[in-house]
Amino acid sequence: MNERNLFIVRFGEAALKGQNKPYFEKLLVERIRKLVKRLGSIEVRRKEGLIFVRADKSIPQEDIIREIGKVFGIASISPAVECPSDLEEIGRAAVEYMNRLIQEKGVKTFKVEAKRADKSFPVKSPDIAKKVGASVLKGCKVLKVDVHDPDVHLFVDLRRDVTYLYQQKIKGLGGLPLGSNGKGLVLLSGGIDSPVAAWMMARRGMQIEAVHYHSYPYTSERAQEKVEELAGILAVYCSRFKMHVINMLPIQEQIAAHCPAEEMTIQLRRFMMRVGEKIAAKNDCSMLVTGESLGQVASQTAEALCVTDASVTMPVMRPLIAMDKTEIMDLARHIGTYEKSIEPYEDCCTVFLPKHPLTKPRLDRIERSEAGLDVERLISEAVESEETIDIYPRID
Ligand code: ATP
Ligand code: MG
Repeated sequence: MNERNLFIVRFGEAALKGQNKPYFEKLLVERIRKLVKRLGSIEVRRKEGLIFVRADKSIPQEDIIREIGKVFGIASISPAVECPSDLEEIGRAAVEYMNRLIQEKGVKTFKVEAKRADKSFPVKSPDIAKKVGASVLKGCKVLKVDVHDPDVHLFVDLRRDVTYLYQQKIKGLGGLPLGSNGKGLVLLSGGIDSPVAAWMMARRGMQIEAVHYHSYPYTSERAQEKVEELAGILAVYCSRFKMHVINMLPIQEQIAAHCPAEEMTIQLRRFMMRVGEKIAAKNDCSMLVTGESLGQVASQTAEALCVTDASVTMPVMRPLIAMDKTEIMDLARHIGTYEKSIEPYEDCCTVFLPKHPLTKPRLDRIERSEAGLDVERLISEAVESEETIDIYPRID
């Protein structure tokens, strides 16, 4: 019966979504199919509120778990075996299952936990557990029961026709299926924060697209390649996406020529937002996403964020707003972007960096200095100079 390896995948929050549940489930199944496809012959199906993945035995289990582990919207994954819902058969399958664990892992103690999803089954859950436990003790002489701290929890999930046996629940990424919550344009620098922000929004189901600003020739081609590589890591989770690349130098030069030096950073940020807003609108993105975190640097004080926000009408999502840097760094490590982010390359924000940036900018003053610039023309020229790069998942 088990000529293929079976994996049970449980939905995360998508399970709570009432009437829209089939929509979320379908997105999730499609996403899993897409990720496991390259491993070989694998079937992905949903049934009774679960997803069942059946893979050829030649495909290493850890490869499948790793791929499914990149999918947003999954609560947990269990490698499992299945047998008919009949106590004799379940007992036999349990013995075979435990014998394998004895051989592979030197398991000595176990505990059975049974759940009867099919309430018409004549034996109740605690009695199923007892019967299966007795079969295992009889068939695996080296094993003992330990109800407090067993080496293995043997879960028995009894359904109408089929019963599933498994021992672990590997935690998934959680969140919601990719593509279930609109599309956002991420302002992607080469730093630690913005890739984490992109990932967090994507984990809530948001499809992403990115815009990256550079100041070539002050910033190098290699600096841009680094951002492309970072984006490639994000694409592992977020699927293939577009990255718009724009040279901000003409704008920076105008700001430098017409505004007080200490306003450079905040003025530039307002332009980044406005150019981003135009790119977003052109590409069906309904929100902007940044890696800003309250108080992290001068341009991220409460006052500075208000002045930045006043430059656009599109909603700006800042998922890191209340996170500490150490928490953001931990998440970056978990995602796999950290090592790439800390590679030392110049960023466009560091060109013309003021010695003493304003920490409490006032909107009226900023707008007054800005009056000396041809804002609309600068924005449209920046948008027109845009180059689009397709970002593909980075496979190591
Ligand atoms: P990060 O680690 O993301 O670079 P940061 O702490 O260095 O963030 P800033 O440089 O002030 O902070 O940038 C704040 C946010 O503005 C970034 O998280 C990103 O969303 C956006 N941003 C900054 N520089 C760029 C850039 N060169 N291209 C696109 N977006 C940028
Ligand atoms: Mg930065």
